[in-house]
Amino acid sequence: MSQFLRPNVAELTPYVPGEQPRDGAAIKLNTNENPYPPSPRVVSALKKSIGRSLRLYPEPLADTLRAAAAFAYGVKAENVLAGNGSDELLAMLLRAFVAPGGQVAFPVPTYSLYDTLALIHGAEPLRVDYAPDFSLPPELFSRSAALTFLCNPNSPSGTLVPPGDIRRLARSLCGLLVVDEAYIDFAETEGASALPLIRELPNLIVLRTFSKSFSLAGMRIGLAFGPEALIAGLAKVKDSYNLNRLSIVAAAAALEDLPWMRRNARRIQRTRARMTRGLEKLGYQVPPSHANFVLARKPGRNLRGVYEALKARNILVRHFDVPALRDSLRISVGTPQEIEILLRELGNLPDGNAPV
Ligand code: PMP
Repeated sequence: MSQFLRPNVAELTPYVPGEQPRDGAAIKLNTNENPYPPSPRVVSALKKSIGRSLRLYPEPLADTLRAAAAFAYGVKAENVLAGNGSDELLAMLLRAFVAPGGQVAFPVPTYSLYDTLALIHGAEPLRVDYAPDFSLPPELFSRSAALTFLCNPNSPSGTLVPPGDIRRLARSLCGLLVVDEAYIDFAETEGASALPLIRELPNLIVLRTFSKSFSLAGMRIGLAFGPEALIAGLAKVKDSYNLNRLSIVAAAAALEDLPWMRRNARRIQRTRARMTRGLEKLGYQVPPSHANFVLARKPGRNLRGVYEALKARNILVRHFDVPALRDSLRISVGTPQEIEILLRELGNLPDGNAPV
């Protein structure tokens, strides 16, 4: 490691994204992308925008998208800020609200980027273990961390915490609560989102992404929703032109075709139900998933070998090499055909599944 690095960066184990093979031949169930294409309206809006205007900078605050989001979600434009993916918004939240050396709390296991970003920032991660059923751990409440992240539905468990618990948690905290709703459009329960709570809770921010339900992972678009004062503070730390012109166009067009997104989310819910039953038949435990992936578990086993055996058959899933998740695979919900092949190959593995 170079002596020029900051010590916390020199020591950092960076976030490892899922593999993105270039040949497109694999059945790709490792990064929770949507198996269905984005709305045709998005494609035609993009085509119209490719031309001379690309020489100009984009809108600094992505006002077209802010207005479209305000309309779609029933809030004011001042309650919305757009990011270059919700990952950028997560980093901005640390920059705006956590002093160097400050604390960032989150229940684990969860999206590991929270941990990585806290370490990059020079903040102290406070990792609180989830209960075995992935309900909110009591130790998360009443903490004094500057920021608490809650991924809901959670990754990689797919489990959902109800809005009443989120309200209780936010009220108990001294700092901000950030609810990362990357997967909320796939939730089985109506009214699961914490978004309406930004009106009543002065310390709540809700994040959404266009990468999952809107099938736009390649465009890098996320949204933060919150009380005006928090959003204005967050806007101060953003790059001048953080969204490119095409992303703004794509996201605004996607919001004009919510039925397209909802239809695809319903298809994924149906495939998820079939996939869960199929995995259970093969002896896996599957927590009830509200996301576009499931966690397939064999308590006490190490599923690395299953991951590798599937990879050898050109099926990519995710195995996290940390103690709490060695017995698990996170598998994205693909098309019904892809899931049929996955279940067949899993069933064909020696002893129905895996080396220990
Ligand atoms: N939050 C969670 C929980 C995620 O799983 C992801 C995707 N890896 C993100 C945020 C980031 O999404 P985006 O593509 O909008 O940066």
